[in-house]
Amino acid sequence: MIKIQNFIDGVYKDAVENNWLDNYNPANGTVYSMIADSDDKDVELAYQAANKAYPNWKVSHLEDRFKILNRIAELIDLNNDALAEAESIDQGKPKWLAKNEIKRAAQNFRFFATAAMQFSNESHHNEGFSINYTLRQSIGVVGCISPWNLPLYLFTWKIAPALATGNCVVAKPSEITPMTAFLLGKICNEAGLPTGVLNIVHGLGPKVGNALVSHPKIKAISFTGGTATGKHIASIAAPMFKKLSLELGGKNPNIIFASCDLQKAVKTSVESSFLNQGEICLCGSRILIEKSIYNQFKIAFIEEVKKLKIGNPLNDENRMGAIVSKMHFDKVLSYIELAKQEGGEILLGGESIKGNGDNANGWFIQPTIIENLSHECRTNQEEIFGPVVTLTPFDTEDEAVMISNSTPYGLACSLWTNDLTQAHRVAERLESGIIWINCWLVRDLRTPFGGVKQSGVGREGGWEAMRFFTEAKNVCVKL
Ligand code: NAD
Repeated sequence: MIKIQNFIDGVYKDAVENNWLDNYNPANGTVYSMIADSDDKDVELAYQAANKAYPNWKVSHLEDRFKILNRIAELIDLNNDALAEAESIDQGKPKWLAKNEIKRAAQNFRFFATAAMQFSNESHHNEGFSINYTLRQSIGVVGCISPWNLPLYLFTWKIAPALATGNCVVAKPSEITPMTAFLLGKICNEAGLPTGVLNIVHGLGPKVGNALVSHPKIKAISFTGGTATGKHIASIAAPMFKKLSLELGGKNPNIIFASCDLQKAVKTSVESSFLNQGEICLCGSRILIEKSIYNQFKIAFIEEVKKLKIGNPLNDENRMGAIVSKMHFDKVLSYIELAKQEGGEILLGGESIKGNGDNANGWFIQPTIIENLSHECRTNQEEIFGPVVTLTPFDTEDEAVMISNSTPYGLACSLWTNDLTQAHRVAERLESGIIWINCWLVRDLRTPFGGVKQSGVGREGGWEAMRFFTEAKNVCVKL
């Protein structure tokens, strides 16, 4: 059985205590590999390796850093098929989708390699009096922790800017989907990344993740995951005065105004509801529809969703694969039960389904559409993070904004309207870090990415990420 080992100082190693966790294939429910169950001793080894590599890496020539990070991108691209297959088996997502995400992981390295070459510092001149200039210096050894839904994409989204700015990294992928992070170590060695610059430790969040966050010498933590975990991490890191970036959960609205292009709104809403089995933090799980087109949208949406095929993620015909873990599968089904108790009417789906042949014991759930729920009920307030959406009618723009803003979250929102002024007016009023007008998941890596309220603190992407992974120092000269 494959052993998913730690990657420390350029070498694959078992955890010091030689303990192992089971790694499951969600499409058939079987254990197919073993994960190093690391603890604080492994974090210490990773920290020591990173700290040893730091003095050379931080002063490495920008062009050398650019070439190495670009080479990592090229190797990810060259291995796209193998990495996508590994991601699909580990996470349950369709392989065709994993291929796109692996491409995006390569883009992360390419984008931040280029950013390193373009990043510049400000100067402030007060004529005849003073010149101030800002040095943006690497921080040292930083920690990156990522979730299970877009495994390699979100892992590299943090690691690439951290490395581009001259830091050394101790990174921890999710214990639920560690495979592609494991494979990344070999790629980094092949690309010529100096040993110790990137170290990857595997294992449980409350054990090895906690050790990483608590390590006194790891000076910044970039975390993507659930809001409750983010709160816990902040409670440890804040009193230690660590720099902290938190990308957390969401309960995103998808607002359909009567003036929209209905066909486009329906087509994209199918994606924004059920892509990756609804396991994307940006999915629009609350669909709010202007009353005058409610029935029209509902009928067309149900018709489109009925066409989605679910099953073996390695079969390209399937648009949806398996739910990532048994625990998450049970959680999503429990929310469907809750919705029924809260008076929700299931319009489509609502059940788990049995896969064919080898996938008979996989964790599959039908795409589920629910209506008749108040916007204040738990189903409409709590993050489900699965293939479950609710439909809610509204009368006025004010009501749509009120319902949108009524949850503790504020990550992303889509709105559909052909009224230009309405689009900008509503975008301004929504409490959300990201607004998509007449689209969803259209990404430009230069834009600030992150949420408000309980969806997070800080922004990733573009210069925001480069600034997070550097410390600004003001140098003042009196003229
Ligand atoms: P999670 O919070 O359970 O785990 C995320 C990571 O944190 C994992 O690597 C886990 O091992 C680690 N972790 C858990 N407990 C820890 C602790 N005490 N100390 C340190 N590390 C710990 O989240 P998840 O279930 O893996 O991911 C799903 C969540 O992530 C959803 O809420 C989703 O919305 C969110 N998410 C947010 C974004 C975003 O950009 N805002 C993107 C993707 C996913």
